[in-house]
Amino acid sequence: MLILVFNAGSSSLKCQLVDTKSGKALFKSIVDRIGKKECEFRMEVGKKTLSLHPKVKSITEAMKITTEMLFSQKIFGKEKITGIGQRVVHGGEKYTEPCLITPKVLKEIVRLSSLAPLHNPPNIEGIQAAQKMFKGLPQIAVFDTQYYKDLPIETYLYPVPIEWYKHFGVRKYGFHGISHEYVTQQALKKMKGILSFSKQKNVKIISCHLGNGCSITASLGGKAVDTSMGFTPLEGIPMGTRSGSIDPALVPYLAKKLKVTAEKVVDLLNKESGLKGVSGGLSSDMRTIHIEATKMNAAAQLAYMIFIDRTAKQIAAYTSVLRGLDALVFTAGIGENATYAHKDILSRLAHLNKFKTFIIPTNEELHIAQLSAKLL
Ligand code: ADP
Repeated sequence: MLILVFNAGSSSLKCQLVDTKSGKALFKSIVDRIGKKECEFRMEVGKKTLSLHPKVKSITEAMKITTEMLFSQKIFGKEKITGIGQRVVHGGEKYTEPCLITPKVLKEIVRLSSLAPLHNPPNIEGIQAAQKMFKGLPQIAVFDTQYYKDLPIETYLYPVPIEWYKHFGVRKYGFHGISHEYVTQQALKKMKGILSFSKQKNVKIISCHLGNGCSITASLGGKAVDTSMGFTPLEGIPMGTRSGSIDPALVPYLAKKLKVTAEKVVDLLNKESGLKGVSGGLSSDMRTIHIEATKMNAAAQLAYMIFIDRTAKQIAAYTSVLRGLDALVFTAGIGENATYAHKDILSRLAHLNKFKTFIIPTNEELHIAQLSAKLL
């Protein structure tokens, strides 16, 4: 089956045309830095790669250039595509499985934007643009939150007045679920040959998605039982520009000190904190932070140390949730490449019993394609 996958973020649009039988991508592209001067379109078709610098101001425009480039490659005509898979960040409590996008479902995804004001709107724009461009083709929403449907209630509830959950949906939802589920399934396959049969049902895996956004998920037998991101993707470990967990009393304190609103403080915690914030604005990119840290730049060293400290502590906490650990998985930009970070994190876990460590490249688009094909 040929599934066309779109993954629309706040400033990028990723696309893959996947042959779900072979699991191969026949076409891969990204429109990066949408709305900025430096906007770039990159694509990969077989061994051919191409990079352009188009002016793209919106997801709709990015969808247009992506599909134009796709069909100009003459890989397959539109008629060969069976369906479209769309990543949707927030499915709330309602969507715990991939789901065919009907007008009713789209309305619900729009309603869920109140929980994910930064994340669902670009997904919605992508869905609406595809509806116009691919009239009649079924579209499937695959949710980033759905992997967390089995979190225990004592894990997803915050220790706050219970009415806040009932009236306002205050709970941990978890994010990056498509990536965590994908790499966890890959790790499970690898563990099959390693663990005894009796242990295979309840394999204890901790997956670390360390990219621009970072999150850690604990899975038991392929089901998520805890995760570091929460009501929003701001909770958890430090990231490129996000603080991760901090004392919530800092929000009104900083609002007063900086003479800004609480919303603005949260914006600063999302966009000016993490590696970027601690390094004094040096960079949100781990490569730069690491290079500068090795050159004895104190601010870069501190940003790196805080990142390693919180990441190691989060992993250690999840060994208590799982009552042990069989495999630790690293994925995404930092997770797949930064061997120095693996080493520093693992040195903080040396007291634990032996476990396997895997570096598994994530492929959210492939996972979306396979889940969409299954539903279709
Ligand atoms: P996104 O979450 O936007 O998909 P990525 O998964 O591409 O982001 O991760 C981006 C992060 O990965 C950046 O911090 C970047 O510095 C880091 N990264 C990418 N390549 C390397 C590398 N070779 N070594 C270390 N870090 C890397």
